[in-house]
Amino acid sequence: MQGLLIDPGSLPPGCEALRTEVRAFLAEAMADIPPARRNRNWSGASPEFSRMMGQRGWLGMTWPRRYGGQERSMLERYVVLEEMLAVGAPVGAHWVAERQSGPLLMRYAPDTLAPRIVPRIARGEAFFCIGMSEPDSGSDLASIRTQAQRHASGWVINGRKLWTSGAHRAHYMIALVRTQPRGESQAHDKGDNRHGGMSQFLVDMQTPGLTVRPILNQLGEHDFNEVTFDDVLVPHDNLIGAEGDGWKQVGAELAYERSGPERYLSSSQLLLEMLDEADPDDPRHAVALGRIVAHYGTLRQMSLGVAVMLSRGENPALAAALVKDQGALVEQAMPDVAHDLFGGRVTPGSTLDQSMRYTTLAVPSFSLRGGTREIMRGMIAKGLDLR
Ligand SMILES: Cc1cc2nc3c(=O)[nH]c(=O)nc-3n(C[C@H](O)[C@H](O)[C@H](O)COP(=O)(O)OP(=O)(O)OC[C@H]3O[C@@H](n4cnc5c(N)ncnc54)[C@H](O)[C@@H]3O)c2cc1C
Repeated sequence: MQGLLIDPGSLPPGCEALRTEVRAFLAEAMADIPPARRNRNWSGASPEFSRMMGQRGWLGMTWPRRYGGQERSMLERYVVLEEMLAVGAPVGAHWVAERQSGPLLMRYAPDTLAPRIVPRIARGEAFFCIGMSEPDSGSDLASIRTQAQRHASGWVINGRKLWTSGAHRAHYMIALVRTQPRGESQAHDKGDNRHGGMSQFLVDMQTPGLTVRPILNQLGEHDFNEVTFDDVLVPHDNLIGAEGDGWKQVGAELAYERSGPERYLSSSQLLLEMLDEADPDDPRHAVALGRIVAHYGTLRQMSLGVAVMLSRGENPALAAALVKDQGALVEQAMPDVAHDLFGGRVTPGSTLDQSMRYTTLAVPSFSLRGGTREIMRGMIAKGLDLR
């Protein structure tokens, strides 16, 4: 059996000074954001906040200067991310663009799209959404049906994307689509390759023929959408990477998507509320909350280890899947702990009450978004040579 060693690494000198700087910024920038809004954590979006982060050089921190980056280390970026998540800062507008779209464009369109678009991401001015899932394709992403056909004037896209978070405020989508019908691509492929014939495109969300319809989640909030493509014309230059390489590229994108500390730090507000309300004389409180804090400690070391792998240019997919799986488990248990400890005596309408209500309804999605629990565990088993 192949093992997995996650080197927790340690933060280089300078990180604590950066942390102090970020905390000072947050104390001021978050002063008017009430606890109830902090529950939204990285789903909460404020374009203005994103621009303020851009002005401070905290978006695209690790990117080359020619793309508007700061050429700082992955671990410095990690410090900024964890400080933002710890206080539920409204980072949702730029989150996808900074986490995965910018890196994808720099890797697969370094001389064409990246110089034009990526500096705007670093300034907090260009927001992205992820066009992967479709009505009948989620875990089985290879079964997507949205198609692009090559014409003299560009590629014409038809189809439908589903659960597209933030599409209503995004400037661009990176869409995974078929550039060869499924049967045809399989016929061309030797052996068992159902992953051929897919490509990624940069799609401007203002393009005629593209419609964004809201879908309310069970909290009643508008986060995700259905996006319909009806003869959407995309310039030839907007093909990202090589035609037919979409599957390989999307794998790299998903590794970025699953690798960050947001995979265990989405519910920090509830933990803070519980710690505030804890009864120091009740050993049940000490045990239950101590257990969560211990889980946080372990997850943080593992998550930092993922950042170390990224900084060394290693592929963190397996380690990231573990953090995502274990992070979701801890976060999904937190509302039960809260109800167990405080359920009978929480003041209706208090910040703890609001946090418990919000988190109870939010956490079921944590083991779905970014890849379901079963898919993560399949990846872990495969990575460890267990299947
Ligand atoms: C909050 C949220 C935000 C999202 N944002 C986006 C977004 O921005 N862009 C985007 O493209 N998508 C987004 N998604 C969609 C998300 O990626 C999909 O929901 C997810 O990939 C699962 O796909 P599905 O919903 O079609 O479920 P299915 O794939 O139909 O799965 C249903 C169930 O079957 C299980 N299952 C499926 N296949 C297997 C298998 N091979 N082995 C074992 N069990 C299996 C799954 O684990 C799951 O429990 C979002 C989802 C959520 C909840």
